[in-house]
Amino acid sequence: MTAKRIDGKAAAQGIRDRIATEVDAFRQQVGRVPGLAVVLVGDDSASAVYVRSKARATEQAGMQGFEHRLSATTSQDELVALVDRLNADPAVDGILVQLPLPPQIDEQVIITRISPDKDVDGFHPVNAGRLAIGLHGFVPCTPLGCLRLLQAELGELSGKDAVVVGRSNIVGKPMALLLLRESCTVTIAHSRTRNLPEVVRRADIVVAAVGRPNMITGDWLKPGATVIDVGINRTEAGLVGDVDFTSASEIAGAITPVPGGVGPMTIAMLIRNTFVSAARREGYSYEKSL
Ligand code: NDP
Repeated sequence: MTAKRIDGKAAAQGIRDRIATEVDAFRQQVGRVPGLAVVLVGDDSASAVYVRSKARATEQAGMQGFEHRLSATTSQDELVALVDRLNADPAVDGILVQLPLPPQIDEQVIITRISPDKDVDGFHPVNAGRLAIGLHGFVPCTPLGCLRLLQAELGELSGKDAVVVGRSNIVGKPMALLLLRESCTVTIAHSRTRNLPEVVRRADIVVAAVGRPNMITGDWLKPGATVIDVGINRTEAGLVGDVDFTSASEIAGAITPVPGGVGPMTIAMLIRNTFVSAARREGYSYEKSL
């Protein structure tokens, strides 16, 4: 069997096109466009690449981007003051502070300073809590993008066995909660999990968010499983995921490639969350399937 390759790039473009249409209608009715503020502290090259692609996607959707580039020596107080200004700015609907931050700044202080209603990354404890108890809030972009790919591929997810490998606050945990919300039977695996290959082999759905190149191989998979590879690992052979694509493709039913799978969906969901934030703040009704 050769697995279907899930084209995250095409799916993401489709969502971005739909949002651009929604933004146009929003502008005509509300008289302004949604705004996303992106803050980059320091000059980490991977972060700079992410920030650039987020800014480009914002503009392509017809929204306004506000870019704030601060030096690596910025103090926590200075960053807090910027976040406060952005919280109070009516033109800003979404605030994203690119992580990681330099060591003199406590990430939790910054994450909790962003207004939960502008927290389009979904990292604020209020939004994490909303997701946990089933209230509307902002869901982190990467797991939300993974869920969209799974729904497009499988339709109804209810009753499926899902294994999420990784338990970080930004990917693994919210991914598990989203799958639980869809009535999957969810297992969260991590570095202390025993017999990981056996655990993964039970799954109809595997989400890999580990950060270890090619860790999950085809012999770990149940035949026909749907595999979502979140991993982005820079190796001598180039960018690879947490799943060994070649061997996994022989066993899986469908699988996301790296690059071109989850990555583009993360950006599409950021644009989506920003639009939804603007719509909520303005009391504007929008297509709920966005
Ligand atoms: P973290 O490092 O925060 O978490 C990694 C998780 O993997 C931890 O829960 C850890 O377990 C678990 N883990 C580590 N080693 C093993 C192992 N040998 N067996 C089982 N579990 C293990 O990473 P993130 O969640 O932030 O990111 C995961 C990957 O996803 C990275 O490659 C990252 O680059 C990528 N990523 C991609 C994005 C995208 O847009 N495509 C966005 C965000 C991340 P424990 O908790 O026990 O330590």
